[in-house]
Amino acid sequence: MANVYIGLGSNLEDPLSQLQIAVEQLKSLPETALVGCSQFYGSKPLGPDDQPDFINAVCQIETQLSPPVLLSALQQIEIDQGRIKKRHWGERLIDLDILLYADKIIKTTDLTIPHAEIALRDFVLIPLAELSPGLVIPGLGSIETLILNLETSYLKPLIHL
Ligand code: ADP
Ligand code: MG
Repeated sequence: MANVYIGLGSNLEDPLSQLQIAVEQLKSLPETALVGCSQFYGSKPLGPDDQPDFINAVCQIETQLSPPVLLSALQQIEIDQGRIKKRHWGERLIDLDILLYADKIIKTTDLTIPHAEIALRDFVLIPLAELSPGLVIPGLGSIETLILNLETSYLKPLIHL
């Protein structure tokens, strides 16, 4: 079994429900167990700012699915939830990214692991640290150091929104 972290994000059509549905879908993936999920956080959109704020979370799973098979399964969940991609870094119903896959470093046309933007995104690093304090990101170092190096953070636990 591989220890894997999935980033979830939504900013359309009741984002909270979109994330809750996606978590249920992660639970029902074959050869996979959900270990836990971070709190849900509100965050400002990257890219175009004329779009609603996002809700983000990170879930930890144990899976026997290989990275490409897991990617396809996540893409199928996105399609089932009616994801329509409107523009780059734009609004979306649900976005599921593989953040980390065990200690693997992967660079293929379809898949970059650790996720290419991982070190720059508060809405990824802070929930990851909540789930796994002391986590080391392959090639990038400790999660706490990466968080200290963030330039800004707009992240708020949802309860405080
Ligand atoms: P965003 O970068 O905003 O998440 P998309 O979800 O639309 O944008 O990106 C989709 C593409 O990103 C997919 O076609 C997929 O092949 C590629 N990709 C590369 N690395 C990853 C990863 N670690 N997790 C998910 N998708 C990835
Ligand atoms: Mg994505």
